[in-house]
Amino acid sequence: MIRLLPPEEAQKIAAGEVIDRPAALVREFLDNAIDAGGQQIEVLIEEGGGRRTEVIDDGVGMDRDDLELCWLTHATSKIRSLDDLAQAETLGFRGEALAAAAAVARLEILTSTDGREAWQLEVGPGKSVPPRIEQARRNRGTSVRALGLFDTIPARKRFLKREGAEAGLCRQVLIDKALVLPERSFRFTQDGKLKTWLPVVPTLKERFIQCFLNSMEGNFLHEIHGAGQGFSVTIVVGGPELYRNDRRQQYVFANRRRIQDYGLLQALEYGVQGWFPNGVHPVGAVYVEIDPALADFNIHPAKREVRFADPGAIHHLITQTLREFTRHAVTHQMGNTAYQAETNHHAASLALEALLDQKPAFAPLPGRGAAMSASLPEHSTGLEKRGSPPDRSFAVAEASPSYGGIRLVGRVFDLFILVESGDKLFIIDQHAAHERILYDAFLSKPIPKQELLVPIPFSTAGADEDKFLISHREDLANLGIIVEEGEGEWRITALPANWKMGDAETVREILDLRTSGENMAERWVATLSCHAAIKDGDYLDDTSALALAEEALRLPHPRCPHGRPVKTELTKENLYKAVRRL
Ligand code: ADP
Ligand code: MG
Repeated sequence: MIRLLPPEEAQKIAAGEVIDRPAALVREFLDNAIDAGGQQIEVLIEEGGGRRTEVIDDGVGMDRDDLELCWLTHATSKIRSLDDLAQAETLGFRGEALAAAAAVARLEILTSTDGREAWQLEVGPGKSVPPRIEQARRNRGTSVRALGLFDTIPARKRFLKREGAEAGLCRQVLIDKALVLPERSFRFTQDGKLKTWLPVVPTLKERFIQCFLNSMEGNFLHEIHGAGQGFSVTIVVGGPELYRNDRRQQYVFANRRRIQDYGLLQALEYGVQGWFPNGVHPVGAVYVEIDPALADFNIHPAKREVRFADPGAIHHLITQTLREFTRHAVTHQMGNTAYQAETNHHAASLALEALLDQKPAFAPLPGRGAAMSASLPEHSTGLEKRGSPPDRSFAVAEASPSYGGIRLVGRVFDLFILVESGDKLFIIDQHAAHERILYDAFLSKPIPKQELLVPIPFSTAGADEDKFLISHREDLANLGIIVEEGEGEWRITALPANWKMGDAETVREILDLRTSGENMAERWVATLSCHAAIKDGDYLDDTSALALAEEALRLPHPRCPHGRPVKTELTKENLYKAVRRL
């Protein structure tokens, strides 16, 4: 027998399609905050968002009349008719989100258009209590808050995951939105603790780094651009140094919305073919900007899919732009490993410049530099930051420092150490070399750990991560990491000695180990060495530079843990050829 559902039941069912979990509230409220022009946007959640989900913005706000209407189904200020839809540049346009939120939770909106007059609306859940509007106080902008999600709909509430998992999904939504808007700032607070803070940065690339990478890894991220008919793409992509075993850190956006588009992700992978070893994946994001007339954003209830008029053209542009870029990157890399006098003018001029730059010689102080100790070095042994003048007081004789048959020629570009040995000139990447030396040393003996004075609390995104931490407790301890569980929350209580990463980064590095399978130790030690190694721009005194060079030349595997070569070389013969000397 067919029955017509009472309107309120029908409304609840429809609302469930828009709002199925706290992350959906975050998504809809964030879209509204962004559409309203909010520059500083904040998300607050409590108990995984089930108890409270709130988004605060400093956008245009609403006046009293708009506030009265905004929560009604199909109330929208963004389009007037179906024709407008084709041109819609806003994230929202259906006018259903606030109505859906009010159907499944208590909705409170506090808003002001000018900071002088402010109003507060309270409505829902459902029709349980009549809506109320009162005068209030607030700066310009809007706070939208949903309380007690699904409290009146137990069937839906049962489908929610654990709080930690729901919170993780909420945070992911914030990241999805923030990745495309580097010019706005975002904050995410969970149960009173600030978990994520993304201040304004100038580029998409830098926002990507803020969200996922440390500053060292950031050096291997690239931003490139391409344009087609009626659309353009920006691609932020990590080089092979940042490879991943899965594709979790790959994103596609179309007109500032994150979309699930397997085809365009595939284009990203095709574009980097040959630049990456087989079987691993790049991190990155593809941002498509397209004339709204050439795409339909209204095919998915959560707008997660888009139908492009000509998907092939976009695919092609992404692949071509990347191929063009990686061709240069690959040529450049090969220049590091094999020098060809006839073809590689860049390398030749680099080396010659270095030779001309050769300084009046300083004293030799043979002996192994202390900077090479295998424990995590403090940046003190023979090591100074650029800017502080190097200490030359040990200069005693008129000869270049030399040791073990190699002679220090100099340094270039704040990164390379140049040494002469026989009739070869070696150009050594000081960071990569030190990284490899530390890596080998760390792998050869237990990693010393240090108890933290203040443990780092963190929560996991789900049962998988919990399981990983529990079952690998011992493996982690061998790597210098002690984690403890207590009251549904985890704490890191010890880390390798001299560990220097920030808390959030540390937690992420540890949880990411889950994806590394059997290579867990290698991966962790690579991270450790990368952070402990001297960096580009760190100044090494002559003795330490020479010792590092000497050790680098003896490395059995002269590649950094990410696979980059530690050194390149020029022969006397090639140099002579380069200047046509016979
Ligand atoms: P839509 O975003 O599709 O228009 P919503 O139900 O999400 O529908 O919002 C309804 C209307 O409420 C919006 O069109 C907008 O006018 C107003 N609104 C919602 N959130 C905000 C906000 N944070 N700032 C200003 N206006 C808002
Ligand atoms: Mg909306």
